[in-house]
Amino acid sequence: MRPRPSRRAEVVAALVCVAGATTVPLLPHHPLASAAAVLAPVLLLLVVALRRRLVWTAAGAALMAAGDVVFRLLWWAQGTPVVPSVADVAFVLGYLALLRAAHLAAGPGRSGATLDALIVVAGPAAVVAAAVHGPLAALAVTGTPLQTAQALVAPLFDLALLVLVVRASVVGALTRPQAAALQTAVVLLLVGNAGYLVLVDLAPGLLRPWLGAPFGLAFSLAALAASAPAPTRPAPRTSPSGSRLVLALLPASACLPAAVLVLQGVVGAGVDWQVLGTGALLAAVLSTLRLHGALRVAGDQARELERLAHVDDLTGLPNRRACSAAAERLAGADETPVALALLDLDRFKAVNDSLGHAGGDALLRAAARAWSAVLPAGADLHRWGGEEFVLLLGGAAAERAEVLVQDLRLATPAPHTVSAGLVARRPGEDAASLLARADALLYLAKEGGRDRVCTDASPAPAPAPADDDAGAPRPGTPASSS
Ligand code: GH3
Ligand code: MG
Ligand code: MG
Repeated sequence: MRPRPSRRAEVVAALVCVAGATTVPLLPHHPLASAAAVLAPVLLLLVVALRRRLVWTAAGAALMAAGDVVFRLLWWAQGTPVVPSVADVAFVLGYLALLRAAHLAAGPGRSGATLDALIVVAGPAAVVAAAVHGPLAALAVTGTPLQTAQALVAPLFDLALLVLVVRASVVGALTRPQAAALQTAVVLLLVGNAGYLVLVDLAPGLLRPWLGAPFGLAFSLAALAASAPAPTRPAPRTSPSGSRLVLALLPASACLPAAVLVLQGVVGAGVDWQVLGTGALLAAVLSTLRLHGALRVAGDQARELERLAHVDDLTGLPNRRACSAAAERLAGADETPVALALLDLDRFKAVNDSLGHAGGDALLRAAARAWSAVLPAGADLHRWGGEEFVLLLGGAAAERAEVLVQDLRLATPAPHTVSAGLVARRPGEDAASLLARADALLYLAKEGGRDRVCTDASPAPAPAPADDDAGAPRPGTPASSS
């Protein structure tokens, strides 16, 4: 394995970049200092990504750096931001590379994670859209279609990037600090791009000193996140969402457009009903879809739990819980004949002792398979526990109970044997009494020499010819009660 590059110098450099991005706008304007405040963090991200072989992140950073250099040179040469320009080609390609990096970081993900991310981003997106749609509309009138498209595209890329970063956080592909740093970084990009639109319209004087700060901070945070180690443990896939933070953000984000709409109405500002109303509607639709998905997953999980609660995971047979319920159901149906057999593998402990626990388990599985194969409809085999099984027989199967239990005995994987106690239900008898009587008969079968069936019709079988209690299982000893 390749040694992980040392992080200390990268962290120090990122902190210096953060300091630069926040202090440079406060100092008297100097074009080189302003350029360095943005370019240095982008180049740092490039270096960090190259050191970790994060190819798409490195490509994104390189293209963003190239775009920024060209943008500044054109601005410096013409005295005003030139939009659109060849720099935008680099920015678009840079965004595509970063989107690819964020998509790859999340991996195949979990169904629902993309929807979670969409909901988390949809609310703030509607508010941002409400903030920029005025300046955008003005630009559409005064500017060229390309200028309007350029102004629209950057925030849209930011939102797409935010969706992918939130999705990567939801699936557990990022540690908490990484997720926080990257989400803040993308929000800063969005603030920078949306802020550009608002400042161009409202306060162009602030453009030059402040435009770079959000970008510089964003790339410093991205470099910090890229340099941090990836999570060692993936998020649990069964939880409805990757983190508690996302669970809290889902309703907060879904309510945000409606809340801002109400606020606008309360303070008497211009009510942005088209954008915020659409955003609220979108949030409601996405939340409903999410709810549907969550209810479906919860339903599937409840059904699976119900199934697991009634199945023995070693043999796949219905377990003791299922057996008790079925026995009570059968015993409750007064008019049907009912029979119950308790089967117990003979000298099973000796199998464990000689073949190990795994060998014992294999015999339990083999016996369950062999017995199930000879059972007709109406005969239900359950694993009662350990090496004990219960056969429940109703209707026609109950009338042939003794033959069926003998079939089971004969089907036991050689050289192993089984003993059984078989009872027919007496009028009004409950499941517990049936089981107790079958157990007593099973005891008699063991006492009588094993490999036999004791029924309530013949409760005292003749002792087996040579019962050596200490020996291994004996093949083919005839059942004395048959
Ligand atoms: P008998 O003929 O009198 O029934 O003797 P036995 O050895 O079959 O019965 P005993 O009750 O002495 O031993 C049963 C053993 O079954 C003891 C226990 O460790 C083992 N056992 C219980 N559950 C499992 C299981 O799931 N897998 C395995 N491999 N062994 C189990
Ligand atoms: Mg036993
Ligand atoms: Mg036994």
